[in-house]
Amino acid sequence: LIIWIVNLTTVIFRKIFRNMSETIFSKIIRREIPADIVYEDDLALAFRDINAQAPTHILVIPKKLIPRVSDASPGDQSLLGHLLLVVQKVAQQEGLANGYRVVINNGDDGGQTVDHLHLHILGGRKLQWPPG
Ligand code: AMP
Repeated sequence: LIIWIVNLTTVIFRKIFRNMSETIFSKIIRREIPADIVYEDDLALAFRDINAQAPTHILVIPKKLIPRVSDASPGDQSLLGHLLLVVQKVAQQEGLANGYRVVINNGDDGGQTVDHLHLHILGGRKLQWPPG
């Protein structure tokens, strides 16, 4: 009985803590809220940004919850590389042959508003540099 109670408590705590760190992007991954999904594989998902800053503005996210690039660990190396290859695939799919920008905002000063790692793909117009 004690083992059963311990197991149940562990399950409940895991659920609570997972939900605490989860963002709206986890709900998009689980199809609990709608998104305009343009690419999906086992490890990643790509969907259109709801507040587009360019004619093409897509977010590429890992299905695994890594809040920020500064939270990634050496074990995430191949996943992080995979995300860039997904960027490449999506950009091709979207016909961004003339170029595009890939942006990762990190933390408050970086302007990150959703704590689930995401790579912005911005294209379809000439972008300025440096960003504000
Ligand atoms: P960042 O400021 O780098 O954290 O980027 C978060 C991005 O997520 C912003 O560009 C938002 O417009 C976008 N965003 C927030 N909620 C949604 C949503 N439900 N569907 C699509 N994009 C979203």
